[in-house]
Amino acid sequence: MKIKKIMVIGAGQMGGGIAQVAAQAGLQVILNDIDMSMIEQRVAFIDKTLTRNVEKGKITAEEQQEILARLVPSTDLQDAADVDFVVEAATENMALKETIFRKLDEVARPDVILATNTSSLPITEIAAVTSRPESVIGMHFMNPVPVMILVEVIRGIATSDQVYAIVEELAVAMGKKPVEVNDYPGFISNRVLMPMINEAIFCVYEGVADPEAVDQVMKLGMNHPMGPLTLADFIGLDTCLAIMEVLYEGFADSKYRPCPLLRKMVKAGWLGKKSGQGFYAY
Ligand code: NAD
Repeated sequence: MKIKKIMVIGAGQMGGGIAQVAAQAGLQVILNDIDMSMIEQRVAFIDKTLTRNVEKGKITAEEQQEILARLVPSTDLQDAADVDFVVEAATENMALKETIFRKLDEVARPDVILATNTSSLPITEIAAVTSRPESVIGMHFMNPVPVMILVEVIRGIATSDQVYAIVEELAVAMGKKPVEVNDYPGFISNRVLMPMINEAIFCVYEGVADPEAVDQVMKLGMNHPMGPLTLADFIGLDTCLAIMEVLYEGFADSKYRPCPLLRKMVKAGWLGKKSGQGFYAY
């Protein structure tokens, strides 16, 4: 089956980015969200991004209009009846994703692959609520999607080789570099990244250094483009905590214990850039 029309579920920062790169790759995209105003905001944001690309001479004004015309809004999951592929990028919540995948399984054609952009939830568990676990897969894009080249492609325990191959090809068609990973907590990206961020938070918690100094060491000494605490503020401290909990519970290993300072900041509503306060003030 040739994939021509896809549905992206969730018009947040990730779903919007995925919809944009898919439309740029020539795919028809149904952009679904429960909230129509989220879709409108996201399409306006994509339009602004494309305008900048026109100004920089990367695309023509005509191409901009063609890309926008390929984005169709939807607030009804029933619209998945008419697509060749689905990628879900709704809020990171297991119960929510299970509800969405149950519904997709009912609505989408039996040959349609159902992918999820989850950062940390088990693909195998999401797949188990459907009658097609062999066709459920993780397609983990990085933020911001139009800029970052990696897609971690995560195989659930039942994901078939054929489904993996189709998703790999689709990622390449979207201008990305797929990397194959098996389904264990945090996959590779967050299993390696989050404990580093958590350890950086422990350094602040234990008074080893202040956030600026921790970030400076990692930037100047390790050539990281951004210090781990700045990065944590960008990702969202609630998201960082949720991923550490997945690692801690998933491996039942104390080495993944979330730093008490991280918990305290999240309880205070200090979520990083999105709330105006994290390790830095915004
Ligand atoms: P976000 O909060 O920006 O967007 C989530 C969107 O999902 C919102 O627009 C919300 O209205 C919508 N939504 C909620 N319930 C829905 C439903 N039932 N049907 C349709 N839409 C629904 O979140 P985000 O940062 O874009 O993250 C989305 C997914 O991508 C999560 O699974 C997250 O773990 C993953 N992810 C995030 C990042 C990141 O850096 N933010 C990176 C990689 C993967």
